[in-house]
Amino acid sequence: MFSLPYSKLPNIGLTIFSEMSQLAAQYNAINLGQGFPDYPMDDNLIAAVNKAMQDGNNQYTHTNGYPLLRQKLAEKVAELYQTNVNPETQITVTPGGTYAIYSALTSFLLPGDEVIVFEPAYDSYVPNIELCQAIPVFVRLEAPDFQIPWQTVREKISPKTKAIIVNSPHNPTGSVLSAQDMETLTEITRDTSIIVILDEVYEHLIFDDKKHESLLRYPELLERGFACFSFGKTYNCTGWKLGYAIGGEALMKEFRKVHQFNVFSCFTPTQVAFAHFLDNKSAYLELGKKMQAKRDFLLEKMKATEFEPLPSFGGYFQCYQYNGERKETGIELAKIITQEKKVTTIPVSAFYHDGGSPNQILRFCFCKKEETLEEAAWRLSR
Ligand code: PMP
Ligand code: GLN
Repeated sequence: MFSLPYSKLPNIGLTIFSEMSQLAAQYNAINLGQGFPDYPMDDNLIAAVNKAMQDGNNQYTHTNGYPLLRQKLAEKVAELYQTNVNPETQITVTPGGTYAIYSALTSFLLPGDEVIVFEPAYDSYVPNIELCQAIPVFVRLEAPDFQIPWQTVREKISPKTKAIIVNSPHNPTGSVLSAQDMETLTEITRDTSIIVILDEVYEHLIFDDKKHESLLRYPELLERGFACFSFGKTYNCTGWKLGYAIGGEALMKEFRKVHQFNVFSCFTPTQVAFAHFLDNKSAYLELGKKMQAKRDFLLEKMKATEFEPLPSFGGYFQCYQYNGERKETGIELAKIITQEKKVTTIPVSAFYHDGGSPNQILRFCFCKKEETLEEAAWRLSR
């Protein structure tokens, strides 16, 4: 039997999201682990994709993305973030946000380059960096607020630092970047050749009247960076895997070299549908309030359990600290709860390269129907 005598990613197994979703299915547990909504998406959007197909939009579209979609995205960005981006040179449509991040990193990382990664970190960043034979340099964010310790960042920057990757609203913690954070990031990277990647897939899922600090609001950062987005999160269709990257012109030129030979172009019908659907601004402008109500609903119901909430200001998730009798680590606890209480969560320790501290903080996904959230909290309270 053929086998490869090495692995490019020797330490990588199944992602924690797949692992816990499989466990949830095995034990018939409510899955508040992997981040995806359990309620239907907008029927009008489904109809728009059907129509796009029936209208004959079934062949390859432009490699950089359906032109009208890029134009509409540029208009959206101009209105939301007061930034003019050129859809011809700065926007590329991708098969999801993860892919946008991968293409961005692949387009500039050389072996031995260092990338500053904040932990807890979304699981794709480090393998992406390692595939380029570059080196993740970790900066830990600490509970309960998970704020960026900028002094540590300054200390970790070296002549080999090629990039900094940031995520706001943050998965798994729900922390968000402030204007002050963005100014510090601008100042730290000024007069360097450091590239900034901002993972903004939860841009519209922001709560308590906070303002999303997009990379696009900061021209200096945009020129030296990429902002990565996902339609899946905004339109409740994570399975459609469509996203886009917006970047500085020089960087986007390199990005497109990777993109062209990796995917060439993305699924056409959804791009045509979104190009028209973007006119419906309330779909994204009202999203934060709707998701905030879900966060608060779960918060209220969780009061009857042994879990103490940590603050969440955005995204799909809220972290809870377990305060009960059990002494197991986070990952063990998440598995036991799946088996015994039939509720699945994700241990925050899984978002650290070394397992983090043996904490008992679990991530709960609240983009679910109220009845799902209520039933989950009830099971945990028993
Ligand atoms: N970044 C973060 C922080 C995420 O949580 C997700 C969710 N999967 C992604 C990127 C990827 O989004 P997509 O499904 O569009 O690839
Ligand atoms: N972003 C989702 C989460 O954090 C999962 C997506 C995935 O499974 N890759 O749960």
